[in-house]
Amino acid sequence: MRDNLTVAAGTLLDVQKLRAEFPILQTTVYGKPLVYLDNAATTQKPQRVIDAITGYYSEYNSNVHRGVHYLSQKATAAHEESRHKVAAFINAPHVHEVIFTRGTTDGINIIASSFGRKFLKEGDSILISAIEHHSNIVPWQMICEDRGANLKVIPVNNKGELIMDSLDDLLDETVKLVAVTYVSNTLGTVNPVKEIIERAHQKSIPVLVDAAQAVQHIQLDVQELDADFVVFSGHKMYGPTGIGVLYGKEAWLNELPPYQGGGDMIKSVSFKKTTYNELPLKFEAGTPSIAETIALGVAVDYLQEIGIANIQETEHQLYAYAVDALKTIDGLRFIGEAKNRAASISFLINDIHPFDLGEILDKQGIAVRTGHHCTEPIMQHFNIPGTVRASIAFYNTQEEIDQLVAGIKRAVTMLS
Ligand code: PLP
Repeated sequence: MRDNLTVAAGTLLDVQKLRAEFPILQTTVYGKPLVYLDNAATTQKPQRVIDAITGYYSEYNSNVHRGVHYLSQKATAAHEESRHKVAAFINAPHVHEVIFTRGTTDGINIIASSFGRKFLKEGDSILISAIEHHSNIVPWQMICEDRGANLKVIPVNNKGELIMDSLDDLLDETVKLVAVTYVSNTLGTVNPVKEIIERAHQKSIPVLVDAAQAVQHIQLDVQELDADFVVFSGHKMYGPTGIGVLYGKEAWLNELPPYQGGGDMIKSVSFKKTTYNELPLKFEAGTPSIAETIALGVAVDYLQEIGIANIQETEHQLYAYAVDALKTIDGLRFIGEAKNRAASISFLINDIHPFDLGEILDKQGIAVRTGHHCTEPIMQHFNIPGTVRASIAFYNTQEEIDQLVAGIKRAVTMLS
């Protein structure tokens, strides 16, 4: 359950101390202390992220990039500072390679549309994997349909690992781009993305990495990965909703046409011709999510302060503890048992419907997710309607895992 790319071993975090900064973790649900194990859907926010949002609106709310007045300059500086923070966090060679988006979904749609319009033609194909989130399937399907291209899929084995032996055959001359998730939100599988990138690059095929479930758990170094595009969401890394990042290599971003037209993305406009702005604004039409961008920068600072290596170490221990604890439940079977796993644990118990189990856990104050987790094709692979998914963050505790296990045992007794 450890990623191949693990950086230098971290030290265990003082979880109780860190939890104190998350107001929601101090609350109760149905009179029970909240046990929040739905972190793959969205993470909770530390007070400093919440404060950054209210601070912007109460102290310097103003539009960015086009104001000469004090407030606008202050907002612009804070907004652009976040771009620098994100660039440093993912080790982007250039700050202008960081494009702010609405989230992972938005980032994938940008590339699917811009890349597809420029480079895809009839008979070409896009290669994805069998364990993608719908966000990394549907935008490609849409553009393939539009361009007469095909969607090809790297198959998965019953452990939830990609069948890498199939890659060389799949990477034929029709493939124009590979889009693959780093970590599966449903199975927790950590894909060998570096190897996939290397093998695709041997055939000069660019790769987009969906890092929605990776950036908060694994040190993301876009240069080390040599990824052409990387996308992720602010809200899954302790930041706000409505903000995300698309990293793209400068050469590719310069090559691609803009996604949306509007203010900010232009250099000059006349009815005859519009010339587009330089990176990153070329891909950022309209007023951005300013408060959210600034708060994302604060979330990045927070992650840097705690240290991703320490988060990884702390979560790794809790993950192993959770897997062992869940194994003590009669009739429980894991869906996804890849060698390298992180954060998400999916399971089913006998023939109990995941929704029924989830509801009973909820009444005990335990938040897990049930259903297909926006990965219907992987449900079809396992021939199941859905799973119960517990997904952990560094602020979860062994006591919470114990409560989950006790809660499940109680639910099983009630439902059997
Ligand atoms: N990709 C993966 C692997 C995800 O887990 C998610 C969300 O759960 C997404 C993409 C979509 O993220 P968002 O809804 O923030 O755009």
